[in-house]
Amino acid sequence: MSDTASVKVAVRIRPLVPNEISRGCKEIVDVVEENEQVIIRSTDKDKPFTFNYVLPSHTPQHELYNRCVQPLIGNLFKGYNVTILAYGQTGSGKTHSMGTAYKGEGEMGVIPMAITEIFDFVKDNFSYDFTISVSFMELYQEVLYDLLSSKTRDQCILEIREDTVRGIHIPGLTEVPVQSTSEVLEALARGSLGRVTGATAMNSQSSRSHAIFTVNISMNTRDNCKENNKQAKLHLVDLAGSERPKKTGAIGNTFKEGININKGLFVLGNVISCLGDEKAQHGFIPYRDSNLTRLLKDSLGGNSITLMIACVSPADYNVDETLSTLRYADRARKI
Ligand code: ADP
Ligand code: MG
Repeated sequence: MSDTASVKVAVRIRPLVPNEISRGCKEIVDVVEENEQVIIRSTDKDKPFTFNYVLPSHTPQHELYNRCVQPLIGNLFKGYNVTILAYGQTGSGKTHSMGTAYKGEGEMGVIPMAITEIFDFVKDNFSYDFTISVSFMELYQEVLYDLLSSKTRDQCILEIREDTVRGIHIPGLTEVPVQSTSEVLEALARGSLGRVTGATAMNSQSSRSHAIFTVNISMNTRDNCKENNKQAKLHLVDLAGSERPKKTGAIGNTFKEGININKGLFVLGNVISCLGDEKAQHGFIPYRDSNLTRLLKDSLGGNSITLMIACVSPADYNVDETLSTLRYADRARKI
């Protein structure tokens, strides 16, 4: 799979938002576009980082999609799983970039654009019969919820199972068959409504959970040659905020949330970093250490393609979190 194998990292810097402007925040993130480099201006010394893609604050949604995501979508139709993760502190632009809460106005994020492209491909392809379904899960404090279930929240808790025949599977997960972009967007909007939000000092809409939207594509060839049938999964993951609990002024239960969330992100970082290490590849990869990585096990590494979109604020106020995001992303990039 040469050019497509492995993990790619895109860093996206959002513009200053109104509350940063009213606080008098200064921008401390510079971009050298031709080198895909970000430079953080800090009091002691400027810190440069290089990634596969660096998207400065004026980058429109369709450019993020065309440069970083579009090249991956064709792999689904060859039978490879693709995983796209949005990482970053609360308020850094993860949900905006992914389009997880797209309401039909303004420019679409990654999810609606990818869906549109998938249906365009299906429409023009006559060699296969396609069956497409979507599921939407939320992982909150290591508990997995089915966001497309019609049951109440405490009745839609899911278990992750693993066996040698089926690999990772989730009994009872709602899989909605879809035949058009609008049906997918309807499922996305319905599921997003059910997501928990926990108010923190940083962003009242902050999400402290991982949202995992999955498109299952099953391709049955029309030439009756079963060996040509293919399956692929596209996981689109809007990760929980990466900030440490301190900064959000979190106390009590919210503090515990912070620790649990960081565990999932911590293990994800370890897994991605092991995948990039030739020696570790043949050895132990700690998928089982968190539910997030268990869920994504068959879609990270192996024949899968992963894109991490690391989202950052340009403001001096957030410099510590921005540096921590870039260090995390840098570890993922060392592949
Ligand atoms: P997160 O999901 O990481 O918490 P959001 O996606 O909700 O962050 O973004 C926080 C705020 O910043 C929102 O008001 C959003 O509209 C705005 N924002 C984020 N990224 C951009 C961008 N690239 N361009 C313009 N506004 C953005
Ligand atoms: Mg969000």
